[in-house]
Parts: sequence; structure tokens; C-alpha cells
Amino acid sequence: MNDRTQRFIEALFNESPLNRLPRGYGGGRIFDMPVMGVARGDDPIFLKFKEVVGPEHLTPAEMWLQSGFVDEGTLAGRLRIVSIVFPYVQRIRDESKAAEKFPAEIYSIGRNFANAFMNTVLEETVIFFQENGFRAMAGMLSPVFQIIVRQDPVRIYSKWSERHMAFAAGLGTFSLHEALITEVGCNVRIASVITDAPLQATPRRSDEPYANCLFYTSGKCKKCADRCPGQAITEQGHDKVACYLYGRVVEEEMTARLGAALKPHRRIIDGKEQISYPVGCAFCQFDVPCMDRNPVKKALP
Ligand code: SF4
Ligand code: SF4
Repeated sequence: MNDRTQRFIEALFNESPLNRLPRGYGGGRIFDMPVMGVARGDDPIFLKFKEVVGPEHLTPAEMWLQSGFVDEGTLAGRLRIVSIVFPYVQRIRDESKAAEKFPAEIYSIGRNFANAFMNTVLEETVIFFQENGFRAMAGMLSPVFQIIVRQDPVRIYSKWSERHMAFAAGLGTFSLHEALITEVGCNVRIASVITDAPLQATPRRSDEPYANCLFYTSGKCKKCADRCPGQAITEQGHDKVACYLYGRVVEEEMTARLGAALKPHRRIIDGKEQISYPVGCAFCQFDVPCMDRNPVKKALP
């Protein structure tokens, strides 16, 4: 079932017109080939996420039940979380390396168009499981999903963190810039589907949360901090508020430049619907050692 699921998702990446930039930006792909991992719903790491993300962060079983599925006692052990890594293509990365202060237009367009493609991948993967006789849903598309903002101290987090799902599925680890460094780097997007299909879990090599980041493993690097125009990264980590504030500066500039080309994105923040036009930022992900690989991975003998 793992191989069939992987092949199904790969076909979507190859064939979907939504995985394409507009013609004015060359019409090429937004994302290269996906990487897939699987976590078990009863992995104890999901309880740990309530401590490290926030108490409202949901386990897969909680997300499943709160989204309307009816089930009995042994549910968690039957659920699987299919985490999908979406790596940006080389052209977007190459043009982004040269950008200063504001992102390359091709990245902002790709970042904005990516949401529609990611939603389609999730919807189609849910249908794929249903057509094979199983149940499935996507946490990110559930009405239960929302972003939570807390004061004193200010904290911004979601009820379903895709980076944490990918960590659980063994796809990567966290980093100084608070992204996930996968085997294909940190310049990726991530999404997931929950299903009761009998998939094999993909093991984590380690539960060490920062194993792939050069700063945490050797005290060196910090290139992401040097690259950040919003001064949002220090040796203490990633300052979400500073990042958010610089993101608003970027959004104002890039929506003025690209407005008519951008697609709206709906999200729920603290129970209220908001429509935004995401354009990204991500200087910290371009031209850094972890952009497109795991920089800590040892060369094979
Ligand atoms: S650029 Fe270096 S310090 Fe920053 S996240 Fe990547 S590996 Fe870690
Ligand atoms: S997204 Fe932009 S502001 Fe936020 S940490 Fe990365 S480079 Fe800095």
C-alpha cells in the first residue's frame, strides 16, 4: 500500500496543472518530486507535541474524531499519518538566492500558487484511500484546523503542525530557523493525510529534534540568521513575532507588485476567518547549507 500511495502522489505532482507556474513565469513546475513518510497514530510522540507546540495541538485520533468520524477504543493504533514533502524546483531556488530585501517574484508566485496544488493533493489522496475501501481526511482541510495566537508571552501555533507530522514520520528534524530539514532540504512545503489504510510506518532514525541542523550539532553555520532581513533568527532560535512582522512588510510590497496574479487563501485564526494572499519570504531557506539537502548527513563509505 505504501508504494501504491507513493506512486499515486507522484503522478499528481507530474500531471496536475496546478503544479505549474503561470506562463509569464515560464510555465514550469512549482514542486519537484515528493517525499512520503508514514507515522502510526498511536506513536507516543503525538502526546509530546502537546507540550512542545501547545496544549491545543491535536493527536491524530483527536483530529479524526473532532472532524466527525465515529470510532471506538483501538482507533489510534489503526490510524496512519501520511506526511508529504513538497520540494521547490531548482529554478525557484536559483532566482531566490539573488533576491535582496524582497523575495524573487517567481518564488512569491510559486509560494502563492502552491496552496491550491497542496489542497488538491490532499483532496485527491483522500479520494484515493476512499476508493480503495478506507477512510481518510486531511487535518489541514478540516474545519477543526485553526491557528492560535496567545499573549504573554506571544505565541503563534496551529492545532495541527505539518512539520511535526513530518518529524513523526521520520522525514526530517527541526532547525535554528524553525523549519524542517528533510533529506531534500528545508526549502519545502509539507502536508498530510490521516487514514485507516494499513500502511507501514517509516521509522525515525532518531528522536533528537535538531539532528539535521549544523548549528545544533556543531555550533557552526547560522547562515540562515545572516540571510534573514527581519533579524528574526538568533542563537536563541527563531522569533516568530519578528518573522511575522517582516512577513507583513514583504506582503505589502509583493501584493502591490503581483496583486492581480495572486490567489486568495482562507484560514481561521482564533476562530475568525481571514482571507490572505500569501507571498512567502524564506530568505532563511535560500543559499544556505540546508536548502536542498540534509547538511549533517554523513557521506556513505
Ligand atoms: S542554515 Fe545552518 S544553522 Fe540555519 S538551519 Fe540551516 S543548517 Fe541550521
Ligand atoms: S521567513 Fe523571512 S523573516 Fe522569517 S525567519 Fe525566514 S527570512 Fe527571516
